[in-house]
Amino acid sequence: MRFHYLVAVFLIAISACEMQSTPEDVRLEGASAVDDAVLESATPDGDWLTYGGNYAEDRYSTLEQITKGNVDQLGLVWSYDFELRGGVEATPLVAGGVMYTSGPWSVVHAIDVRTGERIWRHDPGVPRIRGRLACCDVVNRGVAMYEGKIFVGTIDGRLVALDADTGEPVWEALTVNQDEPYSITGAPRVVQGLVVIGNGGAEYGVRGYVSAYDARSGELVWRTYTVPGNPADGFESEALEMAAETWSGEWWIAGGGGTAWDAFAYDPTLDLLYIGTGNGSPWSRNLRSPGGGDNLFLASILAVRPATGEYVWHFQTTPGDHWDYTAVQPITVGSIEFDGQMRRVVMQAPKNGFFYVLDAETGEFLSGQPYITLNWAEGLDLETGRPVEAVEAVHGFDWTMITPAALGGHNWQPQSFNHKTGLMYIPIQEGWVERSEIEGWEYTELNIEDHSYGPAVNNLGHMSRARSYDGQEAPGYLVAWDPKAQEARWSVQLAGYWNGGTMTTSTGLVFQGGGDGRFVAYDADTGEQLWETATNIGILGGPITYTVDGQQYVSVAAGWGGARGRTRAPYGEANKYEQKGRVFTFALNGTAPMPLPRTKRPFFAPDLDLPTDEASLVQGGELFSGYCANCHGAQGASEGAMPNLHRATAVVHRNFENIVLEGTREVEGMPSYEGLLNSDQVRLIHAYIVANARNSVTSPEGEPE
Ligand code: CA
Repeated sequence: MRFHYLVAVFLIAISACEMQSTPEDVRLEGASAVDDAVLESATPDGDWLTYGGNYAEDRYSTLEQITKGNVDQLGLVWSYDFELRGGVEATPLVAGGVMYTSGPWSVVHAIDVRTGERIWRHDPGVPRIRGRLACCDVVNRGVAMYEGKIFVGTIDGRLVALDADTGEPVWEALTVNQDEPYSITGAPRVVQGLVVIGNGGAEYGVRGYVSAYDARSGELVWRTYTVPGNPADGFESEALEMAAETWSGEWWIAGGGGTAWDAFAYDPTLDLLYIGTGNGSPWSRNLRSPGGGDNLFLASILAVRPATGEYVWHFQTTPGDHWDYTAVQPITVGSIEFDGQMRRVVMQAPKNGFFYVLDAETGEFLSGQPYITLNWAEGLDLETGRPVEAVEAVHGFDWTMITPAALGGHNWQPQSFNHKTGLMYIPIQEGWVERSEIEGWEYTELNIEDHSYGPAVNNLGHMSRARSYDGQEAPGYLVAWDPKAQEARWSVQLAGYWNGGTMTTSTGLVFQGGGDGRFVAYDADTGEQLWETATNIGILGGPITYTVDGQQYVSVAAGWGGARGRTRAPYGEANKYEQKGRVFTFALNGTAPMPLPRTKRPFFAPDLDLPTDEASLVQGGELFSGYCANCHGAQGASEGAMPNLHRATAVVHRNFENIVLEGTREVEGMPSYEGLLNSDQVRLIHAYIVANARNSVTSPEGEPE
């Protein structure tokens, strides 16, 4: 392994052409060989070509070098530093020995798998101020690949096509109105030469849609909205006219929501593209659609024709969603025997806590059961799959305890389906929250350009306060779910709530990373742990496996952050370290040493000429809550992906105003607040931070765990 590593470095150093001269390996054509036929082959020969591993998004590998018998000999081959703060949710792609992955701020990296060296890096230059409209961190779940191009969706709503060899942009399409609070965190998918991309923003008030662009030219081919617009403007389709009958009031003013920010899957035999849709804008159904109604197509799986975007069927998991119960969670296509007949099915564990099996051709509900504790519904109608709501869960102004909480029983973290065990491996989580509607709530138009996006504004129409039901930290699990029997075969409790996606193999393994930075292989049949390594960086994304030069590798992109980890600490040993993301690549007998991240800096409160009076600190605190806390956490004490300001260095304090108003750390992610804050306000914020840092320094607890 070591010898191989040195040789490869040498070849790269002398000439890029050497890379392409290895004979008789057609896969070295890499990304340029990826066309419709290659994508349709369910198990690409040793590569990992799409976000979900294949069109079915089952993340199931038939590579056989790594087995239950030898998985304990896995070792690190290399790791690669993303060099930017922010969560990493990407599933990397690999073609012809080159890895393509995205990191924070939609930056794309091409890495030589043989060496772990960077081939190119493309930063699409997202204005860092757009991070304020990313509800759930500046993450990106990955890229797509087709005919020599790499596609990425950016936080500010662009779709960018890059030359796979050089990283140079080939074309770029603006997929959203940038005056509205849209964002893109999801991975594009390519079907029939079209790059399919959705968007997010339903927490702020947008109308969801999916767009498809010609992969070669970047031309928009179709756009399908997921919720109806203002009827006075006419409907884009009969399906939306039908959907509009399930809404009331003036829902279009706040956009309606239904954003498709993550899940897509494709079945080539049925020629159906499956789209997962999100929650309503605002969350509260009473405010969104005061006369009631199911509010189609919120929280649904939509099946459309990939060539046109034309509606074929829908299944709504949470009619009249009131709880942020998106159905954007991963969708997997498979075949399962029902009543003696093999049925083509789509399977999903959306946020609402039920696991669904639907007929892939018609959307017919086949079965559904809770995969985790839930209290918002008493169960599903066994004929239709419609939930029977718990009356008290449709809360108004009374504080009401709800589970799952807003992050769902399962979020975007990839699931995997093993065709041998027949089990789906799902990262799940149990969380409780108290909710109430906001009296007198009104929609606020949010706009980055004219700075109408003020302190802590969102458009939920709900207040939440976190509660644990028995004083415990909310637990997370890896569950092996039997979709046929609709019950858990085994489950493993993890160190904390927020963890990584899964990948499974025909040799009977399941790989998953944890929010504690451990990367683990389990026995797919029993859940027995067979191997682990500690990366010390919280892991969220989905692992992959592939072969290069006949060697099977396993890789995972680590990087704590996202909705839960932007300001909250990772678990276990990982919490001792700063959480900048890395890709880790393993193989049998890998011998590279595991890099240790930088230990968190100590608390520090400098003596500066800043106000210390109560009134100034209160004012500074209000400004901080509005402009800073979303990333830096309450009082600036983020222990997650974003910097803890109580640990800021003397250099940061000395340059505080320049950093905040001049944007001197813009490249690293900290935007300029010029035009939003003035010099006096920045001084009050600084005073507030230093006062709180002093509390941290002198607190009897000292260092957090
Ligand atoms: Ca949401």
